[in-house]
Amino acid sequence: MLSLVEISHLTVKYPDVKALDDINFTVNSGDFLGIIGPNGAGKSTLFDCMLNLNTKYDGEIKFFGENIRKSKNYLNSIGYVPQKPIFEKNFPATVTDVVRMDLRKDSEESKIDEILQQLWIHELRNRRIGELSGGQLQRVFIAKALMNNPKILILDEPVTGIDQQSIELFYSILRELNSKQKITIIWSSHDLDAVNRLANHVACLNRTLFFHGQSEKFFSDDDLVKQYSEASMQEHMHHH
Ligand code: ADP
Repeated sequence: MLSLVEISHLTVKYPDVKALDDINFTVNSGDFLGIIGPNGAGKSTLFDCMLNLNTKYDGEIKFFGENIRKSKNYLNSIGYVPQKPIFEKNFPATVTDVVRMDLRKDSEESKIDEILQQLWIHELRNRRIGELSGGQLQRVFIAKALMNNPKILILDEPVTGIDQQSIELFYSILRELNSKQKITIIWSSHDLDAVNRLANHVACLNRTLFFHGQSEKFFSDDDLVKQYSEASMQEHMHHH
């Protein structure tokens, strides 16, 4: 099987804290990986390193077999959905405008309609971005991330502050992108149940990597889940 992502001995030290401590894992083509971990576990730091937004790390990150310090081409094959895009109510851009920003010159304009339809936001295409609900906005940002046919979709805690119905729609969209379009998904979430339902692999982060493997293995092991929850809870209380 082809390893799309290989993370070896990844360590990130901030002045006050070691945010990531010797992280090792791989993501194979077609995987749906859920990354779970409490606040402060290092999830955003991990994504920043993977997206080349943070280059002050020790260890090695490879995408498609190539060290990302050597070539940034891999970024063209990644769609990234950030945590919380926020817009002013009167921000003067429509849904189509925002999605089109990411369309490469050699791609077809018709791609926009196709993807907006796939994400159930085609009827919103002329609406201003600031008028949308959290769930609608989230789907716009997935559409944006999909514009250039990514092989990998990376999503950072994307359901915070979104109503339950939109969350379920979002989950079914992710499932379809993974199973039908074979897009590899790396998704950070606080929702253990959702990770259990959707992801086939799970990485439990708590600055160190507590567990990485098939999600069945993790969720069927009550002791492991309990150990993890207790460790996370302690971390959590420590920091708040
Ligand atoms: P998560 O996304 O899981 O909540 P983060 O990666 O945001 O975790 O943070 C991990 C730890 O690193 C936290 O203790 C946080 O305070 C610290 N941290 C994050 N970013 C920075 C930064 N730019 N400078 C200093 N410390 C940081």
